[in-house]
Amino acid sequence: MTTNPRHLLDNFGVTPKKSLGQNFMHDPNALEKIVRAADLTGDEVVLEIGPGTGALTEWLADTARRVIAIELDDRLIPLLQYRFGAVQNVTLVHADILDVNLALHIRPDEDYLVVANLPYYITSAILRHLLEQPHPPTRLVVMVQNEVADRLVARPGDMSLLSVSVQYYGQPHIVARLSPAVFWPRPDVVSALVRIDTYGADRPVTVSNEAAFFRVARAGFSQKRKQLRNALSSGLSITGGQADEVLAEVGIDPHRRAETLTLPEWAALTEAVLAAGL
Ligand code: SAM
Repeated sequence: MTTNPRHLLDNFGVTPKKSLGQNFMHDPNALEKIVRAADLTGDEVVLEIGPGTGALTEWLADTARRVIAIELDDRLIPLLQYRFGAVQNVTLVHADILDVNLALHIRPDEDYLVVANLPYYITSAILRHLLEQPHPPTRLVVMVQNEVADRLVARPGDMSLLSVSVQYYGQPHIVARLSPAVFWPRPDVVSALVRIDTYGADRPVTVSNEAAFFRVARAGFSQKRKQLRNALSSGLSITGGQADEVLAEVGIDPHRRAETLTLPEWAALTEAVLAAGL
């Protein structure tokens, strides 16, 4: 049988669902670009999110030691079983990536990486979920929407909660921009391939309390384009005076905006908020 995504879907009577971010990659050059960016040597364990019709899965199975492919859409499971049921190094899991217990599939002492054409409707949730795992991947090579890629690699001046969250755990860079034509159906947006190398134990920025770090950053970004003093006071439910005090403690001008802060500044601010018992 064919391996063209469109024909495979036809044969299994499946029509793509926009609500599940279903744009299937059919361009071999684009698939090769993803696999090349993953730097596979043949010994890796790869977690693929949303194998779809298995176009990327097949490339991964040919180049990695083991592939764990997690697909939510029950209509695609028979198709994937047909393609990979007898392939020794592919494990198909019918689940939502945000609910699945990864420890059932990956041992705590086993390094793994994530390679995926992500469903765009939950990109941020998936990235945060994976990076916050007790046993996170060593790197992620993911296709995301162009604008999301720009937000991931943003520098102080253009930061967002997403860039702070991702850059706390790893170093993202954009590998390539890809035209909608590499997918069927074509998405409405340009895509970008992003690689995030996670820091593991050697994080450049460390904090005594991660939950507090994200609470403070969330508060800072809670009011778009507002001065930090006001955003912190409303986001942390503290007075303007208290916000001024913690900001003064770490030498941050209260009139600055959250978009301009560096990660070390967020970390210092978190420690000041904790020290003030706020
Ligand atoms: N990997 C395929 C490819 O490259 O052609 C399909 C990529 S498509 C952009 C995204 C895939 O993610 C779809 O197969 C979709 O059903 C699946 N998906 C959507 N939400 C999911 C979730 N929460 N957990 C796991 N898979 C999901």
